[in-house]
Amino acid sequence: MRKIKYGLIGSSGKMGREIENVFSEAGNECVFKFDIDGEQKFATPELLIDFSLPEVLEETIDYIKTYNVPLIIGTTGLSNDQLEILKLLSQKIPVVQSYNFSIGIQLLLRMIESIKNDVKDWDIEIEETHHRFKKDKPSGTAIMIKNLIGKEVSISSLRLGNVPGVHTIQFGSLGEILKIEHQALSRRTFADGVLMSANFILKKQNGFYSFKDVINNK
Ligand code: NAD
Repeated sequence: MRKIKYGLIGSSGKMGREIENVFSEAGNECVFKFDIDGEQKFATPELLIDFSLPEVLEETIDYIKTYNVPLIIGTTGLSNDQLEILKLLSQKIPVVQSYNFSIGIQLLLRMIESIKNDVKDWDIEIEETHHRFKKDKPSGTAIMIKNLIGKEVSISSLRLGNVPGVHTIQFGSLGEILKIEHQALSRRTFADGVLMSANFILKKQNGFYSFKDVINNK
C-alpha cells in the first residue's frame, strides 16, 4: 500500500497521538499538525484528519479549502448545522464522517437494524460509559444508535475513570431481556478504522461517506 502524507487536527490529543502511532507503524507520514498551540507544516498533506472539538470545525474547513484535500472527521458533538456544512463541502471533496470508527460498533448497528422491527413494543434503554475527560454527553455513538432505532429512547451516560467506550443496548419485554454490548478496549481500534478510511477516501473524488461505507467497500 502506498505511503500517505497526512495532516492531523487535534494532533496533541489522545486520539491524535493514537492515530499518529498507527499511521507511522504503517509507514505513513504526518506532515501537518494543528492543535491549540498552533500549526506545524512540514509538507502539503494529501488528506486531513480531524479529532478535536466542534469549535475547531471552521478552521478545519479553511484548511480543507486551502489544501483542497479529503477530510476524515471523528470529532463528536457536531451540531446539525455543522453536519450540513460538511455535506455541502462533500459536493467538492470526499468526506468520511463517523462518530465511531470501530468495526464492532458497525456490527452492533447491523444487529440493531436487523431486529428493530421485531422489538417495536419492547422497552429500549441505551447506556454509554466513557472516561472522565470526555466533553460531550451523550456520546456520538449513543446518538447514532438512537437515530437508528428511530424513536424516543432514553440514554444513560456514565463518566468513569479511563474507559475508552462501552455501549449497551437493552431490549425488554414482560418476559425477557435482550442485551447487546460493545466494549472498546483501547483507542487503537478507532485509529485502525481511521487508517482504513484514509485508504478508502484517497480513491474518491467527492461525496459524504460514513464508516459503514468504508467497511462495505473492503
Ligand atoms: P482530547 O481532548 O484528548 O483531544 C482534543 C484535542 O483538540 C486536544 O489536543 C486539544 O488541545 C485540541 N483542541 C481543543 N481546542 C482546540 C482549538 N481551538 N484549536 C486547535 N486544537 C484544539 O480528546 P480525544 O479523546 O482525542 O477526542 C477528540 C475527539 O474525537 C472528541 O470529539 C471525541 O469525542 C472524538 N472521538 C471520536 C471517536 C470516533 O471513533 N469517532 C473515537 C474517540 C474519540
